[in-house]
Amino acid sequence: MKEEKSFKHWADSIAEKLEERANTDPILAKVVAEKGYFVYDEKTPSGKIHIGAGRGWVIHDAVAKALRARGLKAKFVLSSDDMDPLDKMPVDADAKKYEKYMGAPFMNIPSPVSGYKSYAEYYFRQATDKFAEFGIECELASTGQDYIDGKFNRTIKIALDNSDKIREIYKRFSRKGSIGTERIPFNPICEKCGRIATTLVTEWDSKREVVKYKCLPDFVPWAKGCGYEGERSPYNGGGKFPWKVEWAAKWPTHGVIMETAGKDHFSAGGSRSVAIAISDEVFDYPPPYPSTRKKTGDGYEFFTIGGRKMSTSKGRGISFSDMTDYAPATMLRYLLVKTRPRAVIDFDPVGTNKMILLFEAYDKTERIYFGKDAVDNERELAHEKRVYELSHIGPVPKTMPAQIPFTHATMLVQILPDIKSVVDSLKSTGHLSENLSSDDEKYVTGRLTFVKKWVAEFAPEEYKFVVNEKVPDDVMKSFSDAQKDALTMLAESLRKKKMAEDELYNEFKRICSETGLAPKEFFRTCYVALLGKERGPKLVSLIVAVGQERVAKVLVTLE
Ligand SMILES: [Zn+2]
Repeated sequence: MKEEKSFKHWADSIAEKLEERANTDPILAKVVAEKGYFVYDEKTPSGKIHIGAGRGWVIHDAVAKALRARGLKAKFVLSSDDMDPLDKMPVDADAKKYEKYMGAPFMNIPSPVSGYKSYAEYYFRQATDKFAEFGIECELASTGQDYIDGKFNRTIKIALDNSDKIREIYKRFSRKGSIGTERIPFNPICEKCGRIATTLVTEWDSKREVVKYKCLPDFVPWAKGCGYEGERSPYNGGGKFPWKVEWAAKWPTHGVIMETAGKDHFSAGGSRSVAIAISDEVFDYPPPYPSTRKKTGDGYEFFTIGGRKMSTSKGRGISFSDMTDYAPATMLRYLLVKTRPRAVIDFDPVGTNKMILLFEAYDKTERIYFGKDAVDNERELAHEKRVYELSHIGPVPKTMPAQIPFTHATMLVQILPDIKSVVDSLKSTGHLSENLSSDDEKYVTGRLTFVKKWVAEFAPEEYKFVVNEKVPDDVMKSFSDAQKDALTMLAESLRKKKMAEDELYNEFKRICSETGLAPKEFFRTCYVALLGKERGPKLVSLIVAVGQERVAKVLVTLE
């Protein structure tokens, strides 16, 4: 039993814990019986959404898939927090145009680009339109629409009737003098100016179920309220909770059993702590995994690109939607599924060989899945198989897709004129089967197209080269007689007959012994002559790929 436990993928372990919760907590048992397992995440569509949030989406998706793999009814829902106010000038849209919308809900602000219902929809869809590519199966929701549809009406009443309790919780967790602790926890939309960030509730009339409010010019420094005073129903889209209360209110409203977030939300006394206290003490609902009524639990670690923690609000770094320009979605999903949520991921695809290593790791996992590569033990086998299943986009195929040797491919894309020639070369060297299925042909072409882009845009110098037309004069002069002889002998034998890689290698040995050059010196000489660099791709492969005749022609200029 003990050993079996260690086989589990993290998503399966979480799914198991969720099932345990549903079986032991009477509130959750009822919710799950009615709706199934509700895995939830949310995002404010304030601008370009950075890649770090994508980690959360893949985690929630993997857990929902793991629940379904246990035969349970489960879904992942991602909600756009589109009732949140615009609180910073957008960095990638016409800021001047948006000045008047500061403090208004994102769902009521026009999109910076035509074809979208609102500012909120535009930015949300920048990310969610990529979900299919990432294999994320997810139902999309709008928190603003949930308010309008009255889904929060019950929790709004409970919260307003218990605002003393909520204020007490805020005070318990905030540092002395923090703002907000004295307020009634609700932000109505001003009926005159439409802003939501500028309103202060002065009274909750529980009998008539209306809030009295003021729209204040100096309530927040970044948005100016219109001065209106009025009263309105808080229900059906009349306003929203402050966000920590909203976070807590969502859980009983939807029946959420799992919702995690980045670890910055989980700090001691942070927003998650406040939300779980409100969920427990005000709404009497067990907070979702990884929290309990008493413990905050741990959020997932940062996902950074190239060592920088990226922030959407600062407008820096790579967004979720732009990330596929740097790495294929399949590879990113694999990286996120393979890594436990509590481990930091710092992925730097630019100027390093990490991208190639990631492709190779994926292919190794794939070979293990299909029984083509051996593993050390059962545990590793079980782990790799599950990683493959959870990271594969779409149904896992019956037979293994065609694989390509990546490092070798980085060389071919630089020598050959197009991808088709690269495929042909890989077939002629036996790296690919002569009769690829059309699916495999398409798959391989896609990967090679990415390799070509990677070499051109992101590869470190050691992967890049250009084959000389002729050896430059100064290089030629720098060679010793033995070096010149070696190159001439190589050119002659390349012209004599077509050689396989092993025959070529034997030829190298012969030339070394006849000229007295050490093998290391021989290889260096060839690279300098052919590429103008001290090192290069495996010499036999390079010669085969470039073609014996063309190599001989470069070397013969030495004569
Ligand atoms: Zn107003």
